[in-house]
Amino acid sequence: MKHLVDMRTSKCTWLDLAVSSKKANSGLLRHASFALLDCYQAFDGIINDYKGRPAVSRFNLTASVLKEFYEAPPKDLHERLTIRRHKHELDECPYCGHPHPPRTLDHFLPKEDWPEYAIYSNNLVPQCSGCAPIKGQRYYCNVHGQALFLHPMYNSILSTVRFYIEVSLAGENPTFEPKFSVLADVCDEDAKRVKLHLKSLQVKRRIVEYCEEQYRRWIRIVRSKGCDIRASFKTRLKERELDSYARNWGIAFYQGVLRNPDVLDNLQKRAPHGPPRPTVKIRPLLMDD
Ligand SMILES: [Zn+2]
Repeated sequence: MKHLVDMRTSKCTWLDLAVSSKKANSGLLRHASFALLDCYQAFDGIINDYKGRPAVSRFNLTASVLKEFYEAPPKDLHERLTIRRHKHELDECPYCGHPHPPRTLDHFLPKEDWPEYAIYSNNLVPQCSGCAPIKGQRYYCNVHGQALFLHPMYNSILSTVRFYIEVSLAGENPTFEPKFSVLADVCDEDAKRVKLHLKSLQVKRRIVEYCEEQYRRWIRIVRSKGCDIRASFKTRLKERELDSYARNWGIAFYQGVLRNPDVLDNLQKRAPHGPPRPTVKIRPLLMDD
């Protein structure tokens, strides 16, 4: 999981875009802008002080306006949000390591409780659709006495997480046992925070579901194409990374299956027997534009 330190800015211009827009209620934001800038100044301290519950928001009156500017943003702000949500060049979720580009935006401090950060850029983090409903409006936990989650722009320790999936076979059915590690120089306190983060996002259960889905997908591929599973998986690993400790679930899945010859055989035996299929002939379609 990537440390998104480059997404962090020391000066957020998104409030300026909202205030200078012609959208209704931009005047209300202008009146609140000094107080909002004070909150923005305090943001880094709140994130770093993960054992302290952030103070209750004072933005009761403008809360709905702030949320409205996020949900129906004026043009220039809409562009910034689109870039943050879709044009980030991430190949995996920075919260959980799900191996697809994240397509939603998370308010790290939920906008329902802290609307002052509804359009604050350092509070808006790309996130996968699996994490989104689980994290939801959660942030601080009274039982643990700390924040449940690590902020991908602030906490580099998320980038030290590695995934390992033990794959075994019970009859015809594979079972998947995800295991987690952090780099050896991570201190105990940080390791505990990573554990709480992964547990709070139910990452173990979601990796098992992901592997089961991938396994079914590869059965379909082998049945229809009769490919060499071992060679296909090795090619995919070569395309991605040379690190033997997986940084995302997809790599860990390929590595886990490759480690177990019985599982590889179980997949490979689905290949169709008999003569190869005849080559399909095609002809071009000339488009008129
Ligand atoms: Zn995720």
